[in-house]
Amino acid sequence: MAALITGIHHITAIAGNPQANIDFYTGVLGLRMVKKTINFDAPDVYHLYFGDELGNPGTVFTTFPFDGARKGTKGTGELTYTAFSIPESSLSFWIDRLAKYNIPASTPLSRFEEKVIRFEDHDGMGIELIANSQDNRTGWTGGNISGENAIKGFYGATLNLKSKELTEKLLTEFMDYKFIAEENGRYRYGTAGKPGDIIDIVLDKNGRQGVQSAGTVHHIAFRTANESTQLEIQKILINNGFHVTEVKDRNYFKSIYFREPGGVLFEIATDEPGFAIDEDEAHLGEALKLPDWAEAQRDKIESRLAKVTLNVNDYE
Ligand code: ZN
Repeated sequence: MAALITGIHHITAIAGNPQANIDFYTGVLGLRMVKKTINFDAPDVYHLYFGDELGNPGTVFTTFPFDGARKGTKGTGELTYTAFSIPESSLSFWIDRLAKYNIPASTPLSRFEEKVIRFEDHDGMGIELIANSQDNRTGWTGGNISGENAIKGFYGATLNLKSKELTEKLLTEFMDYKFIAEENGRYRYGTAGKPGDIIDIVLDKNGRQGVQSAGTVHHIAFRTANESTQLEIQKILINNGFHVTEVKDRNYFKSIYFREPGGVLFEIATDEPGFAIDEDEAHLGEALKLPDWAEAQRDKIESRLAKVTLNVNDYE
């Protein structure tokens, strides 16, 4: 049977100030803002999407920015580090770049024979850059970072859990993941085992539960091809005791949600139709896009959202 899940679709975090959020992900990290819309479940808040040129699945980091929100804390039951994939030869470029923007970063750590730099965004979001030679994706090269250094998309994500057995069973028995390797208490899983599909579980048996607020991840979405494969995986999960939501229309993909046994909110999102359905590929992310049901209230919604601008040109 063909795989129903083929890696990571997007990762969504809670952030603080929306302008600082846009400046960091587009300016410092050089991602493209591919969509500026609202949180469909809370229309007073932006939903911002950052990714490669078209926001392909496996590249899209998204945020709900609440200005003035309290900071959350990293802990168990959370996705604590989102890892982006960078070219192997770009490590020194990124070390210099983070220093230039006064972002404290770790010295390069070794993990499964690759080099990793770890840092946090302005809200405390855990981010890693993993230098590797196995990623053929191009990333976003139309911004302020050239192709030889640009982030290519996600490498993977770290789940910080009290125990791994039930989460491992979910990933490997129902979600097309395979165990790849273990190193220093880090258990690695993948679908193809390539950047864009890696999930690491780090065990923290006595750790404190994380507190979800600004600077923490809200959920991780895994990708499935289309609505029909989504219904298949939904049925498998329900038949195995997971409380899965009905299908929700997120305009750019369809989604179902459930909580994995370790406490992290999982989503399964379709690859179709993508971010070019309501604006031109050359102008993705420029206008505030609303779902049809919210258009009638556009004036009210816009008046409640802080004005934001794209300041990529201020970041060399
Ligand atoms: Zn999502």
